[in-house]
Amino acid sequence: MSYAEFRFYEELNDFLKASQQKQSFRVSFNGHPTVRAVIHTLGVPHPEIDLILVNGWSVGFDHRLVHGDRVAVYPMFETFDITPLVRLRPRALRRTAFILDVHLGKLARGLRLLGFDVSYRNDYDDPEIIRRAVREHRIILTRDRRLLQDRAVQHGYWVRSRHLEGQMGEILARFDLRGQINAFSRCTVCNGGLAAVPRAEIVKRLPPRTRRYYDRFWMCPDCMRVYWKGAHYHHLLRRVRRWCAAPQGGRS
Ligand SMILES: [Zn+2]
Repeated sequence: MSYAEFRFYEELNDFLKASQQKQSFRVSFNGHPTVRAVIHTLGVPHPEIDLILVNGWSVGFDHRLVHGDRVAVYPMFETFDITPLVRLRPRALRRTAFILDVHLGKLARGLRLLGFDVSYRNDYDDPEIIRRAVREHRIILTRDRRLLQDRAVQHGYWVRSRHLEGQMGEILARFDLRGQINAFSRCTVCNGGLAAVPRAEIVKRLPPRTRRYYDRFWMCPDCMRVYWKGAHYHHLLRRVRRWCAAPQGGRS
């Protein structure tokens, strides 16, 4: 039986057992498995990883381990440049677009409310999510780490928090999105981009009170829903302001 010494850094520790967190530990193996296979058995999805050093050298996921290797595994870096080393993921996506698993409907609406491109349907199964993510260059957000362990997944993130407020803060910080917020620009139901629509075109579809009090309307070209700044808007605006505000503390 051979073994390698592993050490995971920063938020990658979230996936490990307490006895493995923030310290070196030994992993036993037979033969010469790939570093990806061993990392998956430890429960860490590869899309969260940006850099692997084996005995100080950067390697790809298919690097094969030998007895006595020392392996350091790092998450996506945001604060310093590692371009001289091997980056494991293809270059970052230029356009930030997401696809969410079926359990994250509230998060989908929240991100759309801030104007982000979010593909979500409650009847997408896992293979469909992966196919669409690859085809449409979307980042998969999920609470199911097994979904991220599929080899085809290149860009993905395991959502740590179980609650909407925590999830929104997490995603905005992780993908550095606060500078790209364009609130109320997207249909929260279907992800279509909203466009201003003349009152005359939609007036017949409005409830009488809305017809009387509001002049400006927006329509989703995909599902034809009409939006206006009614009572609900002010409730949503408070949410948007809270999410736009800089985070208080937390892991940097
Ligand atoms: Zn729509």
